[in-house]
Amino acid sequence: DSPRCIVTIGEIVVEIMAQTQGVGFLEPMALKGPYPSGAPAIFIDQVARLGVDCGIISAVGRDDFGTLNIERLKRDRVDVSAILSVDSYSTGSAFVRYRPDGSRDFVYNIRQSACSQVGLHETSRALLKRATHLHIMGSSLFSFPIIDAVTTAVHQVKAQGGTISFDPNIRKEMLDIPDMRAALELMLQECDIFLPSGPELLLFSSGTSQEEAIREILDMGVSEIVLKKGHEGASCFCADKTVHHDAFAVEECDPTGAGDCFGATYVTCRLSGKTREDSLLYACASGARAVSVFGPMEGTSSFAELDALIAAQKKGIPA
Ligand code: ATP
Ligand code: MG
Repeated sequence: DSPRCIVTIGEIVVEIMAQTQGVGFLEPMALKGPYPSGAPAIFIDQVARLGVDCGIISAVGRDDFGTLNIERLKRDRVDVSAILSVDSYSTGSAFVRYRPDGSRDFVYNIRQSACSQVGLHETSRALLKRATHLHIMGSSLFSFPIIDAVTTAVHQVKAQGGTISFDPNIRKEMLDIPDMRAALELMLQECDIFLPSGPELLLFSSGTSQEEAIREILDMGVSEIVLKKGHEGASCFCADKTVHHDAFAVEECDPTGAGDCFGATYVTCRLSGKTREDSLLYACASGARAVSVFGPMEGTSSFAELDALIAAQKKGIPA
């Protein structure tokens, strides 16, 4: 048996966060950052923190923002050999500000950044050959060349006998991108584990109720639907059963990255042979740790940290 290797493909960005809540970026304000970020990058960093061989296919500019990301991923033992450093583009960035109601406004520099150069270059192909699982974030599918590369990668990993997970991770700022919807639907058809959050579950089905959507998606051949519900926890729907886990009681400091850490932990646990119940438990612990730390990638966890949180909550000790 060859060892497991989890791979993802997509954007690496720095995140710069407003220090005050409010609507948008229409006046000068205090900002904090740069933080390493990008949904696929957070996902793969969390996989690495759990001790599993993993890598990311991505692109950054030859600048400090790129270096900061690569150094963090390297430190946490992500294979960074398939991160291309490109000359003519800067590393992607996202400015984020929370509104008082918990929703977020973004200013993205992603499509015009080094992220646009993500593709299947020589080093990417070498990493993909080792992949036994490929994770796709919907947020990565923002241009036709990238959709093409991701589709090729999905087909290759499946042809190698590997599995696919897919998190739509839709941001309202991205929905108007042409080709994106068709690409999201293709990923849903190809995936084994589908990880929508809240209303994303209904986006892909003709049915209007949650039950109808779940039945339709399971009928497409998806084996597990894991629905993320923020502070309400998460549920896993399969053909034979439904499993739910409540969220852990923690102080929410910064929800960005929760879904990515949750998904990475769920997928890693399932691929390691853990039950759906245990995988959901660890994933909820991972999401809870992510929201209790400021910064998108700052709250990734080791199994020791997850076990400590789980033990503390069993004893009723707040984190
Ligand atoms: P993201 O903003 O990263 O895309 P998401 O919408 O994909 O997030 P969420 O449902 O917000 O995903 O979070 C994923 C999981 O993290 C939840 O199912 C839950 O287990 C945990 N989680 C999220 N928010 C909280 C919270 N406030 N307290 C405890 N756990 C939380
Ligand atoms: Mg998400």
